[in-house]
Amino acid sequence: MATQDDLRTALSPICIVTIPSPDSKTHDHISRWSNAAIALPHAIVTPTSIPDILSTIAFASTNGLKIVPATGGHGSFIPVNRKTIYLDMSSPAFKSISLNEEKEEVKIGGGVLAGEVIKELATKGWHTLTPNSDAVGMVGALLGGLSGATNGIHGFGIDHIKSISIVPFSRTSPLPDPEDHGISNPAVLTLTPDSKGEEKSLFNALCGAGHGLGIVTSVTLSAFRLSALCMTDNKIWTRRLIFPAAAIRTAVKLYIDLLPPPPTLAPVLVFVRAPPSAPVPDAAMLMLALSYFGPAGDAELATRTSFEDEYVEMASMAVTGATGWGEMNASSAPMNAHGGVKESYSAFVKEMDGESLVRAFEAWEAYSSGEGRGRTYTVFSAWDTEQLLRNVGDKDEKFFPARDRGVFVQCTPWYADVEGKDDADRVGKEIVDATREKDRSEGRSDWGFANNLVVGGDLREVYSGEQIGEVERVRGVWDPKRVGWCPGDGW
Ligand SMILES: Cc1cc2nc3c(=O)[nH]c(=O)nc-3n(C[C@H](O)[C@H](O)[C@H](O)COP(=O)(O)OP(=O)(O)OC[C@H]3O[C@@H](n4cnc5c(N)ncnc54)[C@H](O)[C@@H]3O)c2cc1C
Repeated sequence: MATQDDLRTALSPICIVTIPSPDSKTHDHISRWSNAAIALPHAIVTPTSIPDILSTIAFASTNGLKIVPATGGHGSFIPVNRKTIYLDMSSPAFKSISLNEEKEEVKIGGGVLAGEVIKELATKGWHTLTPNSDAVGMVGALLGGLSGATNGIHGFGIDHIKSISIVPFSRTSPLPDPEDHGISNPAVLTLTPDSKGEEKSLFNALCGAGHGLGIVTSVTLSAFRLSALCMTDNKIWTRRLIFPAAAIRTAVKLYIDLLPPPPTLAPVLVFVRAPPSAPVPDAAMLMLALSYFGPAGDAELATRTSFEDEYVEMASMAVTGATGWGEMNASSAPMNAHGGVKESYSAFVKEMDGESLVRAFEAWEAYSSGEGRGRTYTVFSAWDTEQLLRNVGDKDEKFFPARDRGVFVQCTPWYADVEGKDDADRVGKEIVDATREKDRSEGRSDWGFANNLVVGGDLREVYSGEQIGEVERVRGVWDPKRVGWCPGDGW
């Protein structure tokens, strides 16, 4: 077996290789959003070129190691341990963002964060599909679907991928290596919706079930002019209402009343505790955040219920404003903090009644009142599903089976150490179960989000049986030695 020093010599001198000593602390080497499923890796490699990636794959595959590419570090369910080479994609080689106005597309490097794309495009008057957190990696989000504030207008990120450049784990050399399946073999494959054979199968799997299939060096997405949204002053219209816990039924009634929203409205309800600077620190509250991507007059019409006395009088705060596109995710920044243990329990829901939301609130309130759990939150986002359904065409080849579900529920227990996992599993399940009641009573199946799996989570809640089988088959073709980690491998 090669030594860790052999890894160093296999790579270019400018490629940073860190080999943690066994007595060092994981956090001295890796900062991840959550401490779930993380331990000291075998090595951390920051590739500066494609040859660095190829050499790392060759080293991992001959030494029985797994490679976990990492960008934003927000993937809380991806296991990192002594068998892992943590491939840090943050070098400038994978950080480019290139807008092509003529083709209405943007090419995004494999190590780019959502906030970097949002800001870069906004300064040029453009936008693309992005998640609701600036600190999330773009590729990581796309591998599981990429849901964002413009779901109602455009659908998911995977519906707008024009091409993906990837070094599959089966590639250890740029030399031609004729194989079956009609696969061409340059080091970096560029896959498109028009790819054929196994390259097309790989492209499809990367659209929603893409974990552990290779190293994505760049992805090209559709781009859109901000001016086409006709927003007043080119800004997002916003309205925020905060309700105390005692007004739970009022807040919930208002939220349900806003569903289903028009395509241009993104209504988000959050169960959260007040920050230390608030008049009543730590108080349980409900925050309703409305964002409208169109003219302010239309926004007021679409959200007129939220101006009614019945609601405004019960709110401890109600403000209307405007946000520049580049700052669209500013209010979610506290949720990006690294540290502690957190996982997100999720459900895509078609129908939900007020009483199940009330029960979800009570479960969240009880759990988050516990010592060290005050930052636990629960988020409901909603969108019009028409565009998501329209994006499919004749046959849905992407790996996202919940296109007809317009509400996304996410409970994120936030606690001190991994011993708290059982309690977190319990409250996560309780909240998700409460919100699924109506769908279950109508015989609809449970769907959760690939981007929000929990450690030990059930893949059958994320993909159909047929899809699970297809991902396994595709991996057999593109990663026969299992150098990547995908949720089907277990934890
Ligand atoms: C606070 C928060 C907010 C979120 N908001 C949203 C949201 O609005 N919409 C949404 O869809 N999701 C959202 N997510 C989920 C998020 O999209 C996933 O957790 C995503 O996998 C994170 O990617 P990352 O690069 O930040 O994390 P990482 O842990 O660095 O990577 C996550 C996964 O992506 C893989 N990966 C990363 N870069 C590459 C690459 N270049 N090539 C190949 N594989 C790669 C990793 O190997 C790993 O499997 C959110 C998560 C958090 C914690």
